[in-house]
Order: sequence, then C-alpha cells, then structure tokens
Amino acid sequence: MSETNSIFTENFPCAECRAGVLQRRHVTYFTWLGGELVSVPHFPAWVCDVCGKREYDSRAITWLNMILNPNAGKPTPKRRHPRSLRRPQTGMSRPVQDS
Ligand SMILES: [Zn+2]
Repeated sequence: MSETNSIFTENFPCAECRAGVLQRRHVTYFTWLGGELVSVPHFPAWVCDVCGKREYDSRAITWLNMILNPNAGKPTPKRRHPRSLRRPQTGMSRPVQDS
C-alpha cells in the first residue's frame, strides 16, 4: 500500500548482500572459447549497487552461446559413448527470484 511499488519494474533486490539493488547495466563479458579468451563489450547484465554482484541476462547468455557455438542445434552424427548420456546437462544459470 505504498507508491514505491511502481518503482520495481526494472530493479531487483540483490540476493547476495540483500541490501543493494540490481541495476540494468552494460558490462564487458569475458568467457573462454576453446582455450581463447573472448570479450563481449556492452553485454547486458544486472549489477548490484552495493556489493557489485553481477547477474547476466539469461536470454543474452543463451544468445551468446548460440553465436559462439556454431555446432549448437546440429544433431550429433554418431553416439559412440552411450555412457556419457547419463550425465544431465543443467548448466544454465537462472535469475534468482526472491519473493
Ligand atoms: Zn549486492
């Protein structure tokens, strides 16, 4: 019952320090690709104004992986190692939602 509720359309409370607010910023994102360091300038991210924690936009990460991975989406030609299928691949980072 306060007017401040309308402010929280773009900002989220920081899950790390619980004191700061994550703000939309553009940072330089670094990632390793085949032993090579790749930098992506002006990458969308959420940055805490208190502790400096960065949360990258999950959609942008997915987009970036598609660009950096030319083989993404292609079916693997042969499966010679059925054992490796037992490993679940859940490497996606999800945005932390705190209610
Ligand atoms: Zn923080």
